Amino acid sequence: MKSYRYVGPDEVLVRVQGQAGGAAIVDHDALRNWLHSLGVVRGSITCTYVIDEAGLLRLADRHSEHVACSGGRPVQSAGEMTLRWAGDAVELDAVSNLSTGYCPEVESWPAVAAALARAAIEPPATWTAAYEFRRCTACGERNVIKDAWYVCEVCDADLPEAWNFDQRAG
Ligand SMILES: [Zn+2]
Repeated sequence: MKSYRYVGPDEVLVRVQGQAGGAAIVDHDALRNWLHSLGVVRGSITCTYVIDEAGLLRLADRHSEHVACSGGRPVQSAGEMTLRWAGDAVELDAVSNLSTGYCPEVESWPAVAAALARAAIEPPATWTAAYEFRRCTACGERNVIKDAWYVCEVCDADLPEAWNFDQRAG
């Protein structure tokens, strides 16, 4: 699996250093326990996730930075997911690769599907929402591409057609 290094601001990385990473979801019990620890015993919750370098799903409160959830480490993917109680089990309602801290490629889906399966969550066929990221080569801004509009939201420069966060670890 490809891994992605953190590409966000250094000050965020500094702030999260030494913090515990997100909860490691090694199995379905770990998922249930994590939701209970947040007081989420019914309904649904949207949270921040990463797939760590070992392929493990890690979850954190949705207001957490992805780089805090990862403990500052590279990831195989990252984004947001919505989980929902279905009786005594937990099901997945939505999952995206929306992480401006890591800007993971859409192609990182297999890492997410494998981590979900390991946690005994039925993975959907693919993302429920997928995003393309580009770094502006003129000003350095990280852009989320909307409506296939490849223009920097800060400086109006054209953005490259190919994913260009070429900072893969390993
Ligand atoms: Zn720009």
